[in-house]
Amino acid sequence: MKFAEVLLPVPIPKSFCYAIPPQLDLELVVGHRVLVEFGNRKMYTGIVSEIHQKVPEKYDPKPILEVLEVEPSVLPSQIKLWQWVADYYMCSIGEVLNVALPSGLKLSSQSFLQIHPHFIVEENLERLNDREFTLMSYLEKEQTIPYTQVGEILEIKSPYKTIKNLIEMEAILLIEKIKEKYKPKMEKRLRLVQYYAEQPHLVDKLFEHLAKKTKQEDALLKYLSLVPIHDDHLLNYHGVNKREFLHVGRPLSPSSVGTMTKNGIFEEFERQVPRFELSAADKVQPTPVLSPAQQECLEKTIHGLNEKNVCLLHGVTGSGKTEIYLQLIKSVIDNGEQALFLIPEIALTSQLVRRLKVYFGDVLGIYHSKFSDNERVETWKGVQEDQFQVIVGTRSSIFLPFTDLSLIIVDEEHDSSYKAHDPAPRYQGRDLALVLAHMHHAKVVLGSATPSLESYYLAAKKKYAYAGLHERFGDAQLPEIKIIDIKEKRKQKKMMDDFSDDLLHELNNNTEQGYQSILFQNRRGYSPYVTCDVCNWVPSCPSCNVKLTYHIYRNELRCHYCGHKEHVPHTCVSCGSTNMKTVGLGTQKIEEGLKTHLTDIRVGRLDLDTTRRKHSYEQILTDFEEGHIDVLVGTQMVTKGLDFGNVRLVGIIDADSMLYYPDFRAHERAFQLLTQVSGRAGRRGETGTVILQTHQPKETLFAKVARNDYRNFFRKEIKDREQYHYPPYTRLIKLTVRSEKQDLTNQASEKLARLLVNWLGQKRILGPQEPGINKIRNYFLSEILIKLEREGIDLKKAKGLIQKAILQQKEEKAFSRVWVSIDVDPQ
Ligand code: ADP
Ligand code: ZN
Ligand code: ZN
Repeated sequence: MKFAEVLLPVPIPKSFCYAIPPQLDLELVVGHRVLVEFGNRKMYTGIVSEIHQKVPEKYDPKPILEVLEVEPSVLPSQIKLWQWVADYYMCSIGEVLNVALPSGLKLSSQSFLQIHPHFIVEENLERLNDREFTLMSYLEKEQTIPYTQVGEILEIKSPYKTIKNLIEMEAILLIEKIKEKYKPKMEKRLRLVQYYAEQPHLVDKLFEHLAKKTKQEDALLKYLSLVPIHDDHLLNYHGVNKREFLHVGRPLSPSSVGTMTKNGIFEEFERQVPRFELSAADKVQPTPVLSPAQQECLEKTIHGLNEKNVCLLHGVTGSGKTEIYLQLIKSVIDNGEQALFLIPEIALTSQLVRRLKVYFGDVLGIYHSKFSDNERVETWKGVQEDQFQVIVGTRSSIFLPFTDLSLIIVDEEHDSSYKAHDPAPRYQGRDLALVLAHMHHAKVVLGSATPSLESYYLAAKKKYAYAGLHERFGDAQLPEIKIIDIKEKRKQKKMMDDFSDDLLHELNNNTEQGYQSILFQNRRGYSPYVTCDVCNWVPSCPSCNVKLTYHIYRNELRCHYCGHKEHVPHTCVSCGSTNMKTVGLGTQKIEEGLKTHLTDIRVGRLDLDTTRRKHSYEQILTDFEEGHIDVLVGTQMVTKGLDFGNVRLVGIIDADSMLYYPDFRAHERAFQLLTQVSGRAGRRGETGTVILQTHQPKETLFAKVARNDYRNFFRKEIKDREQYHYPPYTRLIKLTVRSEKQDLTNQASEKLARLLVNWLGQKRILGPQEPGINKIRNYFLSEILIKLEREGIDLKKAKGLIQKAILQQKEEKAFSRVWVSIDVDPQ
């Protein structure tokens, strides 16, 4: 008897043993997705991680119910990476699986109930008659189709094979039923159907024929009734939407599509693709010729990669790092290998993908969380089957099934969006990229104009190679940065709301000359809210300890932590006054202010509020690119990676707020953010200008930003980190204790901290302390920070002790409703 270890998407840190039934013995391999029963009669898709013959001692393993695919979706190398993530980030491998595998490859127990053939057949016996009918009418017409035509079949991708199997089983069942009924006369035709049914990949064709053979609408209806119950599910798993199915069948007129949509036969949904598709003529141009400085940097990078495998590419904004990446990727493609191009945020994909498609055409795949399930499964399969050689994606693309990975580029490597927060695994995409690369013997380029302290430190210590590019491409110069003293300006009455006279003057000038501008307002601490004009009462979230944010578009209040929504109150809960006012501190206020001070200017806004819809981000950027917007006002979103040649001016409304977060990375973040946003100005031709408004004009950090002096910034910052024992000199692990009662949280976190102090020593434990927002979703929070040395400590042992402390505490009855989450390398 053989057994399989199966990984399941549950937070229990192990695999589970299942028996392999004899009929599955031959086909089952590691990486297969299988259907198993787990716990309380729940069905799960699991991944086979090991096949062995060790009989479990304590229990009788349940059998694997079904193998869901022919080719395994997951590679052994991926399972190895998952295990690494689970160990390092202190979570279960099931939690990693849950994040790593696109949901299109997972079936929850619920969808299982909906689509599993046994259930369908049992529950829908009556329905079979309709389908029988459809099949029968098909059979009657089918006489005319010669057998040969059946052979011209499309290859069908494996993730959909579950469904193929399913439909196949349905078809077989139908055939059995039909056989009984129509035994004598149907022999020949039945053979035909059976032929279809026996070849999973032919089933589609069967439906295709159905669609072609009868009147279109009729046939489609029949097709849909053939697809059991939840046709949506099936179509989804098929990888087609209903509209696409039409193209498979026969083109329908737009009006009949409209009618059918209205009648609920079709549903419309958006698909994010066309913008990236190029016509054949546009395809695959030669990559641009590098400038001498770029060429030198490229050679340094290649040399560095050969020596150290990892190279920090430190190139000022607008130096053309992307062009250097292009060359590196090009040689990977020419060698028939794969490259992964990581970017911190989805928002950056469209501009970049458009840039890259021109050079790489169809071998370029895209992967991120705003993609639909189908799109993600397609990319997954495309990577596995070597259709894609370059993947552009956000951090989750690290989990794709690379077969021949030889290069990873981590663009804007300093960006904190690489860090995943809840749920576990709370991994750092950049760091994980290094691990992935190591497993594949691939090289890594970390690119940034403002490297993270960690990476620069490792380059300085010669652990990484370093390649610098200190000039902008072409004639472009770095912008001139002017620091404006807000206090002084107020004294001189030269501040109009949030704008200094210099800023308004430059904005006006710039626009008149036909150039564009970007205005940046820091997001944190600047959300608009509602308050009582009489007593200053501010509505806050019932479940979290935070002010509610005002959303102008819906005219409602929302909690950014739990999603709670409510109407804007007409009267003050505290004093009964009806003088409620909205305080718009954010971009919205800047936008409005600007419109009053500079009437002729066309203003656009890019922030969370204006980009909620799927394509709105792209729309705003396109409007800006095409010159329909003069001034783009925005949050962090405008600081990252955008390349617009016509932007001459950048205004920073208030640079101070960034400096004062209670976070050891505050200065690093501020330096990066200010440098990056400044870097949007004057990227081509004439030198750009940055107006930096502040209450602290003497702050040395601003001077360093203005001089583009990364080295001195680094020197000072790294000294502080050493002195106060922060990364990169130490490794941090943050424990967050939460329960529904404040007392309980406090007791539990104190107890836990005591245990940790006993086991790891006083000097390694900070806290417990209440975080700034101490209540989220009705849970009271408390944090403990553990500082571990980088060297001379057994990290595995330390983590083991931390886990043991948490477990030991959890076993105490009083603390059974207390949860502790672990964040390794918190950011
Ligand atoms: P970075 O990512 O370093 O900020 P980009 O790669 O966006 O810089 O390059 C800045 C601008 O200069 C882009 O518009 C890019 O197309 C252009 N550019 C850079 N290098 C070249 C080159 N070798 N040939 C043509 N254009 C270039
Ligand atoms: Zn009031
Ligand atoms: Zn809330």
